[in-house]
Amino acid sequence: MEGIVFSIEEFSVYDGPGIRSTVFLKGCPMACEWCHNPEGQSFDAMNFDGRTIGKKYSASELCSNLLKNADVFSFSGGGVTFSGGEPLAQSDFLIECLQALSGKVNRAVQTSGFASEKVFSSVLRHCDYVLYDLKLIDDDLHQKHVGVSNKTILKNYNTLANSGVDFITRVPLIPTVTDTVENLTRIAELMIQNNVRKVELLPYNKMAGGKYRLVGKNYSPSFDENVEPNPRIEIFEKHGIAVKIL
Ligand code: SF4
Repeated sequence: MEGIVFSIEEFSVYDGPGIRSTVFLKGCPMACEWCHNPEGQSFDAMNFDGRTIGKKYSASELCSNLLKNADVFSFSGGGVTFSGGEPLAQSDFLIECLQALSGKVNRAVQTSGFASEKVFSSVLRHCDYVLYDLKLIDDDLHQKHVGVSNKTILKNYNTLANSGVDFITRVPLIPTVTDTVENLTRIAELMIQNNVRKVELLPYNKMAGGKYRLVGKNYSPSFDENVEPNPRIEIFEKHGIAVKIL
């Protein structure tokens, strides 16, 4: 089986435990208005800044390349992280890669959880660690700013939290959109209902708009990107949740 990848970053330290290689799978069915990887949204190869973005790999070719750093992974307690785009959107390829790496390295998936419950559970059976993004709990706001309903995302979060698989919850802090008192309170409450006690907050990346023009898109977020996002750490701490700001 072939998959399409738009970037591979080696020696990453922010995408799970230890030192990792992060594979960015191309394609995402969502449309977060703050997405800082517009070149990763389409499922097809494209021209970007004079380069072709999107390379097809077989699972075996990709995994044998990744395993060249196996010593570094093992020394640091790291491994391989599949990110995107949305990696669950290439779930058959993803599972084949996860199976090929089984027992060799720690396997992580960074996801927004937007996939059928069946697909999510299948992927979960093959990973050692999950980085799960929660953006907005209000479904109308989620549809407005992310382009899709969050219903399956919230169900899959519940499945993850009760699966026994090690994971971290991540929240992108988008000024006046996700960083509101109401949204962060509802995220903290959801976490506590699921007995989840740690969160990582990712402040808005002001460089997000930089690549849009180069891929022929407009970047026109509905929020004022010059407003600093407010992490409101106290909301999480009040609920007994440890916060790390990335
Ligand atoms: S889920 Fe990630 S890749 Fe997809 S649109 Fe949102 S930020 Fe971009």
